[in-house]
Amino acid sequence: MGAVTGWQEVADRIWVRRYEPFDVNVTVVAGGHGALLIDTRTTLVEATEVREQLRELPIGPLTALVLTHAHLDHCLGAGAFGELPVYASAGCREQLQRHGISQRERWLEWLPEERHADLRASPLPIPDRTVTDRRRLDLGDRDVDLAVLGRGHTDHDLIAHVPDASTVLAGDLVEVGGPPQFHDAYPFEWAPTLSRLEAFGATVTVPGHGAPADGAVVAGQREDLAHLAALCREVLGGIRGRRSAVAASPFPEATTTVALDRAAATRDAPAV
Ligand SMILES: [Zn+2]
Repeated sequence: MGAVTGWQEVADRIWVRRYEPFDVNVTVVAGGHGALLIDTRTTLVEATEVREQLRELPIGPLTALVLTHAHLDHCLGAGAFGELPVYASAGCREQLQRHGISQRERWLEWLPEERHADLRASPLPIPDRTVTDRRRLDLGDRDVDLAVLGRGHTDHDLIAHVPDASTVLAGDLVEVGGPPQFHDAYPFEWAPTLSRLEAFGATVTVPGHGAPADGAVVAGQREDLAHLAALCREVLGGIRGRRSAVAASPFPEATTTVALDRAAATRDAPAV
């Protein structure tokens, strides 16, 4: 069901596999003393398929899960992997605890009926290893640095940086093949957060959805996000109309409309 690609080794011992629905990415980072799975797909059935396909890789057992954020297409499969430690941002844990059940109910509207029982049976993950700023994971012969770089796609995005492979796993802070998703986003803060991600100077960036990207793709997305933020600022300041902003936006109308609404809703959000 639903594999867009087989495992692709995008850098030394970092494998990415893309899955439908949503062309979502699942990534494995392996070291001498451990292997991480970053993001899990949406349900127990979907994640069980990932678990089976891990056998295709030359790695030992998984030693931990890493969740980039609380959107269920990235994290609700976690229950398929047993009692592993689960790393996520502190904000992700809070989001899942406060809104996970209602979010799962909303997802019922977006999935075909034959998948509802699977969705309902998928337990909400409770990350037990939280990150508020930075946290280094030691995989033996390599480190993986987890980091919260600021608000963007959500208020709790977590990235993973593998310095020896010059690779960043960006979650939905970067999207390839489709526009960024703004429903829970912070339009004025996303581009500055991406600048901090770019400061790692990674050669490979694995987005939350779509094909792995290089630095030029990430820079282009940051520029588009900054452009959109400027349009939002002009609309909120009364010097540009919404229709004009939609016309000038680098993103589709539906995306821009959501971003404008989020900009209005979050303009006074306290800085983090
Ligand atoms: Zn997301």
